Amino acid sequence: QLHGSITIVVFGASGDLAKKKTFPSLFGLYRNGFLPKDTRIIGYARTKMDRDDFVKRITQYMKIGDDPEIKKKLNSFLEITSYHAGKYDEEASWKDLAQYINKVEGNVEKKNRLFYVALPPSVFLDVASGVRGHCYSEGFINRIVIEKPFGKDLESSRELGRDIGKLFKEDEIYRIDHYLGKEMVKNLMTLRFANVFFGQVWDRRNIDNVQITFKEPFGTEGRGGYFDEFGIIRDVMQNHLLQVLSLVAMERPISTDAEAIRDEKVKVLKCIEPLKLEDALLGQYVRNGDKPGYKEDDSLSDKDTNCPTFAALVAHIHNERWEGVPFIMKAGKALNEAKVEIRIQFRNVSGNLFKNTPRNELVLRIQPSEAVYMKVNNKHPGLSYQTLQSDLDLTYHRRYSDLKIPDAYEALILDVLRGDHSNFVRDDELDAAWKIFTPILHEIEGKKILPKEYKYGSRGPDELDDFVRKYGYDRLGANEYKWPVQSVS
Ligand code: NAP
Ligand code: NAP
Repeated sequence: QLHGSITIVVFGASGDLAKKKTFPSLFGLYRNGFLPKDTRIIGYARTKMDRDDFVKRITQYMKIGDDPEIKKKLNSFLEITSYHAGKYDEEASWKDLAQYINKVEGNVEKKNRLFYVALPPSVFLDVASGVRGHCYSEGFINRIVIEKPFGKDLESSRELGRDIGKLFKEDEIYRIDHYLGKEMVKNLMTLRFANVFFGQVWDRRNIDNVQITFKEPFGTEGRGGYFDEFGIIRDVMQNHLLQVLSLVAMERPISTDAEAIRDEKVKVLKCIEPLKLEDALLGQYVRNGDKPGYKEDDSLSDKDTNCPTFAALVAHIHNERWEGVPFIMKAGKALNEAKVEIRIQFRNVSGNLFKNTPRNELVLRIQPSEAVYMKVNNKHPGLSYQTLQSDLDLTYHRRYSDLKIPDAYEALILDVLRGDHSNFVRDDELDAAWKIFTPILHEIEGKKILPKEYKYGSRGPDELDDFVRKYGYDRLGANEYKWPVQSVS
């Protein structure tokens, strides 16, 4: 636990992540009283900025409004926040930063430090070694937060892990996967292990297939140069969707301790065989009207790229609980909607009492507008005995008044301050994740596998519906199922 004072140094303070997430989250924690009393925040980057520029930059995404109380809090937050410019590749800058931190800390009793690395991966190591060599606070708590991507495949991830491992102990490292900070993802453990009825049906005898879906309604829009190096599989699936999958599939941890949870996640990942091309559907979006195709992105250097912007991949988990249940992960850019959800489809009801009833489906909507709903069959109200598909519904914004769900980053930075690793990726977990994904990624790249085309704004390649059907997904009843659209926000 962090008691007393802490200095938070944000590297890459001039960047996108820092202004959109890191600083607004730090302010969110500050205004709600979650930062330790004696906190100082230092932004660091190469860009020379005066204080006004810095303040303008880091406050532009904060939701302040007209409330004078919040404005007052912002002013006091800014009093503990400062900016310092310097380089990463010269010793003089590091010495200068170390002096600056000491000056800002003054005579504090405890020089605990948190280093938040919001920088492109090419500079991770320079920064980690600069921090270790010059800014590490001997005898006190040091924590370093790093952002994905953690390598590009098993080998590069191991190399990065070895290099960082020489500088910091595993318990000082916090690898952020911001999906683990999302409310509905954090709710998975509670739903599964605090409800008898879910616990009882959570296995191959009752569940037919699982879909974990990520849909984005926009394309790369000028960031194709960056995206093309990674593709949708590395960008979203190897990390975020696999993390969600492991929370859906893991066994019950022996406690809620970070290591107990992470042990179970690693165990289930080790039961997943490497993904195969025959269990994959790859796509790349093409022009639709005035919406440009992926290859038209000006920032792309390879105009002939086979980089997937959409993928549906099926994971098979070989253990007693899940043998034979396909876990379909789907992710795509430039699709028809913004949505992240987990859809658990149960088996057909047995016996012949009610024929052709649709399957039960449990849906956890991670975003937008958090909800948990279970599709159930109900007697048609009134004199009829026909069945009718309906739902048991828990829509957060209706169930919880005055709901304020913190941003995932806010929740995760608080975890770092508390020293809680539960929602961060452990080294062996990362290794297991790359083992599942590396062969298929190498095959797609090595053999130049061509993705199927799909139109910007569509649901994905035309082959998608047959693909999910092949793995058991059944849409019986979908045409009759109605949801009151006006109540969905
Ligand atoms: P960014 O805006 O491209 O870069 C952040 C800062 O890094 C820049 O302002 C720049 O500051 C510095 N920088 C850029 N290239 C550099 C280089 N070659 N050497 C040294 N410094 C360099 O990046 P970002 O979007 O904030 O992302 C930071 C990290 O978070 C990345 O690992 C990214 O994958 C991850 N991430 C970002 C988001 C997001 O929403 N943006 C979401 C999830 C994860 P100076 O030139 O002033 O030094
Ligand atoms: P849905 O949007 O109908 O999607 C269900 C599944 O069918 C998804 O796997 C989807 O694939 C697929 N699908 C969608 N359109 C298809 C098509 N034309 N052909 C073949 N497959 C198709 O979801 P739902 O759970 O039945 O819900 C219907 C609507 O009600 C949704 O808008 C949902 O948000 C809303 N609803 C809201 C709440 C709530 O807010 N609490 C509760 C219940 C329902 P893709 O994911 O790949 O598109």
